[in-house]
Amino acid sequence: MPAELIDGTAIAARIRGEVSAEVATLKASGVVPRLTVVLIGDDPASAVYVAGKGRACVEVGMDENTIRLPASTSQHELMELLDCLNADPAVHGILVQSPFPKQIDPGAVIRRIDPSKDVDGFHPVNVGKLLAGDRDGFVPCTPAGIQELLRASNVATHGLHCVVVGRSNIVGKPMAALMVQDGPTANCTVTICHRYTRNLASFTRSADILITAVGRPGLITAEMVKPGAAVLDVGITRIPDATRKSGTRLVGDVDFEAVREVAGLITPVPGGVGPMTIAMLLRNTVRAAQRLAAA
Ligand code: NAD
Repeated sequence: MPAELIDGTAIAARIRGEVSAEVATLKASGVVPRLTVVLIGDDPASAVYVAGKGRACVEVGMDENTIRLPASTSQHELMELLDCLNADPAVHGILVQSPFPKQIDPGAVIRRIDPSKDVDGFHPVNVGKLLAGDRDGFVPCTPAGIQELLRASNVATHGLHCVVVGRSNIVGKPMAALMVQDGPTANCTVTICHRYTRNLASFTRSADILITAVGRPGLITAEMVKPGAAVLDVGITRIPDATRKSGTRLVGDVDFEAVREVAGLITPVPGGVGPMTIAMLLRNTVRAAQRLAAA
C-alpha cells in the first residue's frame, strides 16, 4: 500500500488560520504585529521569497514592510539599521534575507538582531535556548514546521529513531535538537548524517523518521528506507522537465514515486515541508508581538 501523503499545504493553511485569529485578538488590544524584512541587493530568488513572506503577512492581517538596500550597503550601515529596528516598538519580528553581499558578515548580522525579535531563530541566544530545551526561544521555521507536520499526522515519536540528513544551521542541526528534546512530538533517538557520513544507507534504513535536507535529487532511494517509516523531504531543487510549460519542476531529495511504495507517511515536493516554513514564520512573529505586548 503506498504511503499516506502528509499534506503540508492543508496543515499550513490551518496554522495560518490560527495565526489570523491571534492577530485579530492582538489588534483588538491595539497591537498590530509587524514583520520587517531587510533585503540587500537584487538577487531575483530572494526577491521572490521576500514577496511571498510579505503576502503571507498581509493575508493573516499583520503589517509587513520590506526595507530594500543596495548591494553596496556597508556592514556599518546595516548594523545601524538593525539597531533602529531593534529599538522600534512597532517592529516585532526582524528578518534579514540571505544570501548577503560579500562585504556583509552573516554571523555579525544574526548576532545584532535582538533575540526577542529574531523570528528566524538563528541568533545564538535562540540556538542555545533550543539546545537547552528552553521553550521561551524562537525555533527556526523549517524544523518547527516539520515537527508540526509530525504532530498533525499523529506520529508517536517517543523512543523512535529519527535520522536527519544534512547538518545546516537553518535545518539539519536545529531539527536534530528539536527531536531529541524531552517533550511532545520529540523524545527521539537522533542521528545526524552529512556529506562525510560513510554508508549513509546503513543509517537511513534504521530510521523510523527520516528527515532529509540536502538539495540532491534522488539521494534517498527506496532501498534506503525502512518499511513504514515517516519520510519528510526538505530538499528543493529545480530540474529540467520538458513536459511542463515552464520547462522545469521542483523535486526533493527523495525518489518520491519509489519511496512512496515503502514508507508509511511521506511529504510531497512541492506541497510538503515548503508551505510550513512561512506558516511558522507567521507564528513566530505573532508570538514576538504577544510577548512584547505582555512585557
Ligand atoms: P545546505 O545547502 O547548507 O547543506 C546541505 C547539507 O547536506 C550539508 O549539511 C551537507 O553536509 C549535506 N550533504 C551534502 N551531500 C550529502 C550527501 N551526499 N549525503 C549526506 N549529506 C549530504 O543545507 P540547507 O540550507 O539546509 O538546504 C538543504 C535543502 O533544503 C536545499 O535543497 C534547500 O533548498 C532546501 N530547503 C528547503 C526549505 C523549505 O522550506 N522547504 C528550507 C530550507 C532549505
